[in-house]
Amino acid sequence: MVELKTDPSIDAMYEAGQVVARALTAVREAADVGVSLLELDEVAHDVLREAGASSPFLGYRPSFAPTPFPAVICASVNDAIVHGVPTGRRLRDGDLVSIDCGAALNGWVGDSAISFVVGRARPQDVRLVETAERALAAGIAAAVVGNRVGDIAHAVGTVCRGAGYGIMDDFGGHGVGRRMHEDPAIPNEGRPGRGLPLRHGMVIAIEPMLIAGGGDDYHVAPDGWTLCTNDGSRAAHTEHTVAVTDNGPRVLTQRG
Ligand code: MG
Ligand code: MG
Repeated sequence: MVELKTDPSIDAMYEAGQVVARALTAVREAADVGVSLLELDEVAHDVLREAGASSPFLGYRPSFAPTPFPAVICASVNDAIVHGVPTGRRLRDGDLVSIDCGAALNGWVGDSAISFVVGRARPQDVRLVETAERALAAGIAAAVVGNRVGDIAHAVGTVCRGAGYGIMDDFGGHGVGRRMHEDPAIPNEGRPGRGLPLRHGMVIAIEPMLIAGGGDDYHVAPDGWTLCTNDGSRAAHTEHTVAVTDNGPRVLTQRG
């Protein structure tokens, strides 16, 4: 069931989204060659603590997971697509990093992700990250009253496929509210004009997950969480929490 949010609730969700935005900005600034993923997790955790927010990631255990998630960010490096568990691994020059973060503030959740390269970037990685950002922007632009969920999915998928990339399509966007994962599902590929009509008050996470090699296949790493490309190629992941409103899409996790 899709729960429509009132305007005051959307304002409250914006506050939660801004905590996530600040956490991702802080992580991005801290990420450098030699910095560990656990150190990045601590940077994000500090931002949440200072804001009085809790983490919907920490202790999260969906049906597919073998263990409760142990961190406040997912840190997925190179061939890891999403759900990377932060470890003591230290970042190396040219690593492609995707950071996913959530925050819960006053009972409302924000959810957002960024990809970036540490140190000197390979041109192909820059192109992958820029395409992930373009796919997200296209999805957001389609998140308007009068469109349907399939229009968002089609917009995202068209950018990814048009650039020759694969799409990790068993996971994707979702409704967001008092819980991190609500209805409806927002796939990263789909047919325009299909699916649920978008209405004022729907709040959704849109999150393209791109695979550089062009295939869609992935596997679960031995930690039971991290999803990695089967072909060993690199992946990128971007995400915003977006409110559909009569005045157009409002990006609740927009970074300053
Ligand atoms: Mg997320
Ligand atoms: Mg999400």
